[in-house]
Amino acid sequence: MRMTEHAVVMAGAGPTGLMLAGELALAGVGVVIVERRPTPELVGRRAGGLHSRTIEVLDQRGIADRFVSEGKKYPVVSFHIPLDISDFPTRHNYVLGLSQNHIERILAAWVDELAVPIHRGREVTGFAQDDTSVEVELSDGQSLRAEYLIGCDGGRSLIRKAAGIEFPGWEPSTSWLIAEARMSQEPEWGFRHDVVGTHAIGKTDDPELIGLVLTERQVGFGREPTLHDISESLIRIYGTDYGIHSPTSISRFTDMTRQAAVYRNRRVLLAGDAAHVHPPMGGQGLNIGVQDAVNLGWKLAQVVKRISPESLLDTYHNERHPVAGRVLRNTMAAGVLRRPDDRTKALGEIVSDLLGMSEPRRRMAGMMSGLDVQYDLGKGHPLLGRRMPDLDLVTAEGPLRLFTVLHHALPVLLNLGEPGAFDLTPWARNRVQLIEAQYVGPWELPALGSVPAPIAVLIRPDGYVAWVAGQATHPGLPEALEAWFGPASSEHRPAD
Ligand SMILES: Cc1cc2nc3c(=O)[nH]c(=O)nc-3n(C[C@H](O)[C@H](O)[C@H](O)COP(=O)(O)OP(=O)(O)OC[C@H]3O[C@@H](n4cnc5c(N)ncnc54)[C@H](O)[C@@H]3O)c2cc1C
Repeated sequence: MRMTEHAVVMAGAGPTGLMLAGELALAGVGVVIVERRPTPELVGRRAGGLHSRTIEVLDQRGIADRFVSEGKKYPVVSFHIPLDISDFPTRHNYVLGLSQNHIERILAAWVDELAVPIHRGREVTGFAQDDTSVEVELSDGQSLRAEYLIGCDGGRSLIRKAAGIEFPGWEPSTSWLIAEARMSQEPEWGFRHDVVGTHAIGKTDDPELIGLVLTERQVGFGREPTLHDISESLIRIYGTDYGIHSPTSISRFTDMTRQAAVYRNRRVLLAGDAAHVHPPMGGQGLNIGVQDAVNLGWKLAQVVKRISPESLLDTYHNERHPVAGRVLRNTMAAGVLRRPDDRTKALGEIVSDLLGMSEPRRRMAGMMSGLDVQYDLGKGHPLLGRRMPDLDLVTAEGPLRLFTVLHHALPVLLNLGEPGAFDLTPWARNRVQLIEAQYVGPWELPALGSVPAPIAVLIRPDGYVAWVAGQATHPGLPEALEAWFGPASSEHRPAD
């Protein structure tokens, strides 16, 4: 048996694992991904797009254009009805229609540029951890030793199970068959509603292939669905199977809704679907997985580099668990509102009426787009714990777009007040950037509206605000710097 050593081993090269690997590589942390699939190709359809906040975090790393140039913009998010977000104060006030296989391809190319090794066609089969390391067993009999193991291995996560992390939640109440196949007759395009639920037949990127989503009469368990199951369901719903043949993918998804009780067990952490599963309503799963990764990446990097204590990792659970908890709730609610009975339809009409009003629309759309997230960092200025807007700044060197200073995933102290008011020397060594700038535009947050202009803000590498000075005095900055970005330089222990 051969054993190799890495700072971090990641199980799974889905969107979450790829994003997290990129974040760690940007921070200079040695990471390797183990992926069960032998090739990057993704069979079948899964996510269909990116929400505003996900596009923003990609923009913070300078890679949003790669996705935007391949996708299609839609000015609405969906919760029960389409909700307009074109008035949201962000450069990315739209949903980007782009299928998961393209999202993964673009992320994989970025990770490749950052020279992250991906061991494809191998899977993690188990692990053992002690106080200093994790020994990760692979399906080919080899093993890897790492300081941390991250389970980005999807909803059926082996890492979660092997870590003994509970996954409480709700069993499925409905299941859907999803397939791509050819048909010898023209089908009935679009949606069809009946007593069982909603069914859909639509075109795909490939003109030869037809995409289907069919609600099953009973929740399907266990056995993988076959072409025969699809044909039978089509006949039951449409009276014909339209001569369906040559499927390229057939699978099933359900409204099972569960969340890991904890996101960390010592040296093992979970992110993405490994930590939370829910039905695809509103298209949020991939999006919150990528945002989990961006929350965890810089924290894990600082812990691995001995800049911050291990307790920083607990803020990952504390911040991200409630975000997925909200998604579990809104997808359960959206699922119930789809029920085809008259009472539910009456409820749905009232919900539609409410969402037609400006404030409820902004509230729900803020949640669906991920733009309204506020981490609980205590009381204070409304920006505290919220995403920093991508301001157009003016500096002595010329105009500067705020997100560009986050490209290297380093924290930023933005001083919009008296130049020279801050001394960051103890945090230098490329750990915290100081930007002196002016900003004359409005201060407006999505779903919240106008907020008072701050004098200075401390921005984490994930783009969330860790500290705000609302007036000329700025108490608490050294404490915030130390809490988030480690003690001042002289006290450092060198990285091992
Ligand atoms: C029908 C459908 C529609 C959806 N629509 C949307 C949408 O519109 N928007 C949205 O945001 N989300 C959507 N989702 C959800 C989205 O697909 C997932 O949330 C997303 O793929 C999660 O990414 P992940 O990287 O966490 O996990 P996954 O994408 O599941 O990736 C896990 C990876 O780990 C690998 N793996 C598993 N076990 C091991 C192991 N033991 N060792 C090594 N590798 C392993 C797998 O091969 C896989 O590549 C949809 C899902 C479905 C089913």
